Amino acid sequence: MIITKQKPFAEIMKGVRGAKSLFIFGCGDCATLCRTGGEAEIADMTQKLAAEGVAVVGGTVPHTTCHELDVQRIARQHKEEIGKSDAILVLACGAGIQAVGDSLDKPVISGCDSLFIGNSKRQMNFYEKCSACGDCVLNETAGLCPETRCPKGLLNGPCGGAVRGMCEVDQTNKCVWIEIYERLKSQGRLDDLMEITAPKERSKANMPHKIEPPARHGK
Ligand code: SF4
Ligand code: SF4
Repeated sequence: MIITKQKPFAEIMKGVRGAKSLFIFGCGDCATLCRTGGEAEIADMTQKLAAEGVAVVGGTVPHTTCHELDVQRIARQHKEEIGKSDAILVLACGAGIQAVGDSLDKPVISGCDSLFIGNSKRQMNFYEKCSACGDCVLNETAGLCPETRCPKGLLNGPCGGAVRGMCEVDQTNKCVWIEIYERLKSQGRLDDLMEITAPKERSKANMPHKIEPPARHGK
């Protein structure tokens, strides 16, 4: 999921730019799990805005706010309230904020910063394990990503700086190359380490990415 944190309220107010009435979009998936854009956060934000003299005329928490067709469908359901608003505040990741901005002819205010793609183990614990590099090496590294989990992005073994198994860059993290070694050893696959992983094809990370189905014949 996309991990977000809410922007400081003063920064959100700066984005409000004098608007007197807002409609709020949250997100029922990632932003709800991050507690940045669920029902509770919309209620909390509504109170804070009211204290600043900004009225919230309505709000909604779509299942996934990055789904643009769904955002458009939900916006039609809330047409009247949205019509009364000066601007739309979005408590979701950047993809959700842009889905709303691209779907509605209203100023859009970003209420969150998008931090990383995160795995979750338990509530409010998030770990970055993939940086969507587009050239995945997990088959060569026992399913652990050194591109993301080694701060130096080393693809062919450790730097040698680990201290008691912990990464020399951030000693709260295990050295992922020691984890790769241990996993391969426990699975009887240490020979895999003898294969050299080629440098990554960095152009695959060029942005903006898009995937579109091939045009149908005759269309
Ligand atoms: S190599 Fe790492 S960052 Fe790249 S796609 Fe695979 S898991 Fe994600
Ligand atoms: S100690 Fe391990 S994880 Fe940290 S930078 Fe070196 S190789 Fe990468």
